[in-house]
Amino acid sequence: MKHKKIHLDVATATDVGLVRQQNEDSFGFDAAAGLFIVCDGMGGAAAGDIASKLAVDTFMIHARQERLIPATAEQRLEEAIYAANDAVYGYAIDNPRLRGMGTTLVSMFVPKDLELDRNACDVPVTIAHVGDSRCYRSRGEDFDLLTDDHSLVAEQVRLGEMTEEEAAMHPMRNVITRAIGAVPDVEVDVHVQCARNGDTFLLCSDGLVRDLNDQQIARILGTRGINLDVAAKALIDAANNAGGGDNTTVVLVRVRF
Ligand code: CA
Repeated sequence: MKHKKIHLDVATATDVGLVRQQNEDSFGFDAAAGLFIVCDGMGGAAAGDIASKLAVDTFMIHARQERLIPATAEQRLEEAIYAANDAVYGYAIDNPRLRGMGTTLVSMFVPKDLELDRNACDVPVTIAHVGDSRCYRSRGEDFDLLTDDHSLVAEQVRLGEMTEEEAAMHPMRNVITRAIGAVPDVEVDVHVQCARNGDTFLLCSDGLVRDLNDQQIARILGTRGINLDVAAKALIDAANNAGGGDNTTVVLVRVRF
């Protein structure tokens, strides 16, 4: 067994866009703990902003906690998301004018050191999400979406009843089928992906993908030698150049070992 240290380079950016008055996205990270999160709030007035911030803060507090009983990374993210759901749901119950508020959530955990077999080159990256905020992985020429949107149109595409192109143009493309804070018990999708040395992971709100397709995003992230801060800014600029119809948030994490 070989002990391996994992280095994480991080860049973040968020922008209100060109149409909305308020930025209702929130994000958080703790690179030392290997934790990253993006939330996209909804509910109008101040509600979306409160929901996304509350979800980020609650998630970070719970995901960071040292445990008496060791949990898997999947359990750790799931439990932090359940806590975020309780917090947002409870807040809306206590504040009737905020009734109906909610938020998407996409989160990621990367271990900071590992005992690796001689032949193993991959680092397990755990991804958990609710709603239509996404996680992508950029690896050399490849750019892969790692999450399934919990949205009306994405479900139609998965059932073969709508094409990707129809979904991208559909008037109900913003309607999500799962959200943090909407019901007392939320269903979380969680799975483990492998990171190779040099992979870049992107967590983003749907503002990034509203008017940009995956190829356009891949081109920016695939630019040889691009600095992560430059890439984060370039993604925001690209979303705004394409219309800026929504808030856009990006969290970029490059894994090196
Ligand atoms: Ca949004």
